[in-house]
Amino acid sequence: MPDPVLSLNRLDARYGDFQALYGVTAHVNEGEVVAIIGANGAGKTTLMRSIAGLIRNAPESILWKGQPIGRLRADQVAALGIALVPEGRLLFPSLSVEENLIIGGQLGRRGPWNLGRVYELFPILKERRNQQSTSLSGGQQQMVAIGRALMSNPELILMDEISLGLAPVIIKQIYDALPGIVGQGMAAVIVEQDIAKALSVTARVYCLQEGRVSLEGRSDTVSRDEISRAYFGM
Ligand code: ATP
Repeated sequence: MPDPVLSLNRLDARYGDFQALYGVTAHVNEGEVVAIIGANGAGKTTLMRSIAGLIRNAPESILWKGQPIGRLRADQVAALGIALVPEGRLLFPSLSVEENLIIGGQLGRRGPWNLGRVYELFPILKERRNQQSTSLSGGQQQMVAIGRALMSNPELILMDEISLGLAPVIIKQIYDALPGIVGQGMAAVIVEQDIAKALSVTARVYCLQEGRVSLEGRSDTVSRDEISRAYFGM
């Protein structure tokens, strides 16, 4: 078994005096797609923000290809090949679709992703490329957020609640695009409220409960009972 690309080793995370994560240990293998599930407030977004360098952590608590990255800034983490699709998308509102995408490519990392590939993945974005990003529907804005992350040619993409608030038909479109995104050497961590969806698109799953890992398992074998217990602590 090759070493994981990402390892979390007893990761703690705090907001001032409030501790949001307690000793989280987890890993992601090269090209692997992993789900993070858990109730509201369990710490899923905090976990994603910690990996992405938006929350500073103990250096050794996050390893990227064996190197400690827990203290790096977000721009330094992005330059290593870790891209975040943040909860709420956070597009640049005054910029067009294409300008938002181009910003994602500013890191200059080499790889298969460019504007043409993103437009192949989400053709509607090509039609809308000169429109201001805020004039798009929520689903289309989510496609821009994913495309912007891909433009940095990451080796790991972190997707935080990408289907939140979107219509089922759009969620399907976005998840249908997933096999075209991952599996070519790109790993993914997906935070998803819809557990069935999360399990159907991932190889392994971690459940967080009140900042701790309450379950780790293979997505195709984990049972509903195990998940209920891990979710609610029953
Ligand atoms: P949700 O599904 O609601 O997004 P989550 O699992 O992503 O939840 P987090 O957003 O990581 O959970 O929050 C974990 C805990 O940290 C919660 O108790 C939350 O109130 C707290 N928290 C989150 N952000 C901050 C902050 N900026 N300052 C203080 N506490 C915070």
